[in-house]
Amino acid sequence: MKNIDHIFWDWNGTLLNDAWLCCDVMNGILREREMPEMSMERYAEIFDFPIIEYYKRIGFDFEKESFKKLGLAFIDAYEQRRAEASLFEDVLVALDQVKALGLGQSILSAYKHDTLVRLVDEHGLNDYFHDLHGHHHIYPADKAPQGKLALENLGVDPSRTVLIGDTVHDAEVAEELGMQCIIIPGGNHPESKLRGLGHPVVTSRMEALGLLGLG
Ligand SMILES: [Mg+2]
Repeated sequence: MKNIDHIFWDWNGTLLNDAWLCCDVMNGILREREMPEMSMERYAEIFDFPIIEYYKRIGFDFEKESFKKLGLAFIDAYEQRRAEASLFEDVLVALDQVKALGLGQSILSAYKHDTLVRLVDEHGLNDYFHDLHGHHHIYPADKAPQGKLALENLGVDPSRTVLIGDTVHDAEVAEELGMQCIIIPGGNHPESKLRGLGHPVVTSRMEALGLLGLG
């Protein structure tokens, strides 16, 4: 991989170990509606962007209850339980390592921006990031536009940046913006799906840094 000037981390499933919580919260929504619950395998198989298609694959009938209402129910329930999710165990050591090397790092997330800012603060990570790039929509959405703006603001050559994420969407965004990409399967997508994308797949954040010559 080429030399790196700036690292973009995905948040959910890459720094925050919360795929299990997303599945569990959705199962609560399904139980309340007397619909069958999902296994973690099923969740990873059908979760994807755009989120509305994921909701359709779950089997929700938008005639009965709108996507908007269901999405808000999920967000409310996730918010109530968000403290149950922790960072992956090598997050702090990896962020420290990047900081010690004097490289810039930011978060590029499909998550709502103000929630992302609050969560990063709650996990005590404020001092690590040059910037946080979330979304201004309620629902998780395409993060390519935010990524494009972030690259422009930094004034960096996209090919000297890397997006480290856990989903197919991370690979698509990196390709669209000309960034390098490393995938760490975090539970939101099955490893089988991620291995076919043409980007390195590793098992930890420190392994990703090792691949970049920063380990
Ligand atoms: Mg993610």
